[in-house]
Amino acid sequence: MDVETRVDRHELSVDAQDTVTKILSSVRVADAPALATVLQMIRQPGGHDPDTSLFVADALTKIDHGDVSPADADGPVCLAIADGMRELERLGYLTVHDLADETSSASYLDEGRSLTAIRVLRPFHTVGVVYRWRRALLGPPDSWDIVTRPGVIWPGVYVRGAVGDYRLRDVGLVYAGPPELDTDALIYAIRDESDVFTCHAVCDSCGADWYADDGSWIFRANRAHADFDYNDARRHDGTTVMCPEPLCVSGRVSFTVG
Ligand SMILES: [Zn+2]
Repeated sequence: MDVETRVDRHELSVDAQDTVTKILSSVRVADAPALATVLQMIRQPGGHDPDTSLFVADALTKIDHGDVSPADADGPVCLAIADGMRELERLGYLTVHDLADETSSASYLDEGRSLTAIRVLRPFHTVGVVYRWRRALLGPPDSWDIVTRPGVIWPGVYVRGAVGDYRLRDVGLVYAGPPELDTDALIYAIRDESDVFTCHAVCDSCGADWYADDGSWIFRANRAHADFDYNDARRHDGTTVMCPEPLCVSGRVSFTVG
């Protein structure tokens, strides 16, 4: 993976967002603007107008103004904004699969990252509706408008990437292939493409090299006399440190995650 490793006196990490962007571009077959809009509406607390109700129906079932009347109980299903994904799963439109869920404490990521596959099984569409109370403040709303129609979401496997340690921020969403695409293959591809659990250190002069795992700063000797602790690294210069090998005079050690 060619995401730059950040090396500093107090830092040995890779930018989680860069790694997610890289993974998304490696699995991307096409963009997915319609699903991205829907996900934004159902998963971002506060990021979306909370007054908009989102309705869902099969792609062939039209949703018109009259279908979303507050008096019409037989209309399309209204998604609870807070739990919209689960609702879409329950309705049989899609399934959700975890591909990677990694924390900054157990890896070299500067913050956590999460990659999810969304397998859309049958085509659906949504409309966003805003209800208003024009004449009376009590009772059912007397006026409403369809404010957004994100378009049909077609069957396929979509990959969504997000970063963050406590609260996730969306990085992107791409269409990765047809619905039968194997999510295990995606998991292996991500591990292969972006191993954020291993850091390799190598000296440019004597060729000594070391490995560290799982975010640790303790480097174990591979072809070197002894292990070394990054906390004890000396003479930082840019992204390299002085080689700790006793017989190496002017070697500089550089670090690569992945
Ligand atoms: Zn050296």
